This record gives sequence, structure tokens and C-alpha cells, in this order.
Amino acid sequence: MHLLRLNISKISLDLKTRMVVTVAGVIIFMALISFSLICSYTLQLLDSVTKIQMTGQQAYWAGGSRSGLSESSREVAAVGSYRNFFQEIQARFIKLILSLLIVLVAAISLAVRLIHGMLRPVELLSRQTAAMRSGDWRIRLDERQNGSLGELAKSINQMVQQLQYFYRLAISKERELEDLSVNLESIIDQRTETLKQLAITDALTGVYNHRHIMECLAIELELANQYQAPLALAIFDIDFFKQVNDSYGHMEGDKVLTCVAACLQENVRQKDILGRYGGEEFFLILPQTNLTQAYAMVERLRVLVSHLVIGERRIQVTVSVGVAGYKGETMEEFIRRADRSLYHAKESGRNKSVQEGMVI
Ligand code: GH3
Ligand code: MG
Ligand code: MG
Repeated sequence: MHLLRLNISKISLDLKTRMVVTVAGVIIFMALISFSLICSYTLQLLDSVTKIQMTGQQAYWAGGSRSGLSESSREVAAVGSYRNFFQEIQARFIKLILSLLIVLVAAISLAVRLIHGMLRPVELLSRQTAAMRSGDWRIRLDERQNGSLGELAKSINQMVQQLQYFYRLAISKERELEDLSVNLESIIDQRTETLKQLAITDALTGVYNHRHIMECLAIELELANQYQAPLALAIFDIDFFKQVNDSYGHMEGDKVLTCVAACLQENVRQKDILGRYGGEEFFLILPQTNLTQAYAMVERLRVLVSHLVIGERRIQVTVSVGVAGYKGETMEEFIRRADRSLYHAKESGRNKSVQEGMVI
């Protein structure tokens, strides 16, 4: 840009100098021609004056020598000669004026042609730069011109090349950024999904955690109320789990919890919702399921758990299950009824499924 500014000021100086020199040259040329024309016509005029004076005197004296002519006739002859003299002066003066006009017109047209010749490369340059400005960067300015115009064309060409380079660089960086942002968005989406899953999952067993299972239960109660649909809740509790911990250690106890949860999860329906309520207790929500159907289901699950053989120590456990069918009460009451059934299952010897009102 700095270079370009220097070139432009140089060009403007160049053009001004050239124009001043051209106009001065034309004026001097015109003045010389006019001066020589005026001199030549003045000399011719003086020559004519001398000749006509002589002719007048000759006419006068010729009349005198011919004794027949009177004084007045001789004067008439002389006056005629002087009239001729003035007519010739008039004619020559008109010629001089016409010649001067022709010189003036020629000088003006010469000056116009010269100035036009000087401005033509500048016009071409401005047309080409206008094309560049409108986005046609393939155009290359003619660098072969002499002097500062050639330098300016070179500078503009270099500048356009640099601009093209930076433009391409910017486009490629923009694409890279777009790709990065797409990748970043997908990574963020994945992480968000993972975080959401972590927020609702029990870290040990992989089933839903306490908070989420309670939220699900609240939603299912609402749906059951809204659509008058049956709904059941089962509470699974591992029997004598404290003894498992005591006999095999907490690590083995954790393994048992994980295996029991996996067994339950694998054997429930798609619409059933399993979660760890806490400790060694699991909630199973059974939407669109009445008490009888729920009881059959949990009995099947209880038997499956009782057949599990867990780890190298071949640990076996049983579960007691309390089941309740929803009757339109509050969530606390619904859970309390299922819990009471679980209590009865425990009381009556464990490894049992009990539903409300069942004769044990
Ligand atoms: P019951 O048959 O009456 O249910 O007896 P129980 O021993 O299973 O019940 P209790 O409430 O006496 O003991 C539950 C035990 O579960 C006590 C606790 O140490 C254990 N426990 C709770 N959470 C975890 C856990 O995350 N990992 C392990 N390894 N043990 C746990
Ligand atoms: Mg318990
Ligand atoms: Mg227990």
C-alpha cells in the first residue's frame, strides 16, 4: 500500500510535468510560427509599399512627361496607384489572420493529441483496476509501460497476487474452522448425552439411579391417572445380603448387586423401568400392567435370580419381592403398599413374591 501511494504521487507528478512541457512546447511552437508569419508578411508589405510608392510617382511623372495631361489628371493616376496599395494591404492582412488561425487550430489539435496520448495508459489502467475491483482477479495489468505507470501496474499485480493468496488462505481456514466446529458440536453432543446418562444411571449396577426411578414413577402415575391405565410397582430386596458381604467381602457383594441388576434388566419388557432404590433394593415399574400380570412377571424374575451363580466363589442369592397395583393414591402411599408386601414376603420366609391381600 505504501509502495502504491508512492507510485501514484510519482505518476501524478510525471503527468503534470509532461502536460506542462507539452503545453509550453505547443505555445512556443505556435509563437515561433506566428512570429515568422508576421515577419514575412511585414517584409512583403514593406516591399509592396515601396513598389506602389514608386508606381504612383512614376504614374505622376509619366503624366507630366506627356505634356497633354493636366496636373489634376496626373494626381488621379497617382491616387489610383495608392488605392491599389491599400487594397493589397487589406488582402495581405486577411491572409495573415487566416494563416494565424490555421496555426492556432493545428497547435490546439496537436496539444489535444499529445495530452490524450499521455492519458490513454492511465485510462486503461483505471479500466483494468475497475475490473479487478468488481471481482475479476484473473486480469493482469500491463507492466511493459514506461516509467512510473509500469511500476504502478507491477505493484498492483503483486498486491492482487497477495490478496488472492490471503483470500484462498482465509477460505481454507474457514473450511477448517467449519469442520472443527462440526466435530466439536458432535463431541459436545456425545459428551452431553454421556453426562445425561451418567446423571440418571446408578454407577455400580448400570440401571437407573434413585432420583431417576422416582421421576419415572411420578410420570407413570400421571399417565395412569390420565389414561385410566393399569400400573404396578415391584420392590426387589436381596435376602440376607449383609451375610454375603460378611462372608465374601464388599467387592464380591458389589459383584452380586451388579449381576442381580443385569439379570433383572435383561428379563424385563421394553416398557418396564428398573432402578436401584438404594442398598440392595430395586424398584421395577410395570406400566399398563395389572396386579395379576405383574405378580406373574416378578415371580418369573425371582426364580431366575435364584438360579444365578455369581463369580468364582459361585455365590447364590435369592430375592424377596413386594408387588402393588396402582389405585389412584399418592406416590408415597403406592410405594408404602408395595413395601408392606415386601415386608410380608420377608416375614413369611424370604425368596418369595407377595402381592397385597395375598394369603401367605
Ligand atoms: P434382609 O434379608 O432382611 O433384607 O437382610 P439383609 O442383610 O439383606 O438386609 P440389611 O438391611 O440388614 O443389610 C443390607 C446390607 O446391604 C447392609 C449393607 O452393608 C449392604 N449394602 C448396601 N449397599 C451396598 C453396596 O453398594 N455394596 C455392598 N457390597 N453392600 C451394600
Ligand atoms: Mg434392604
Ligand atoms: Mg436385604
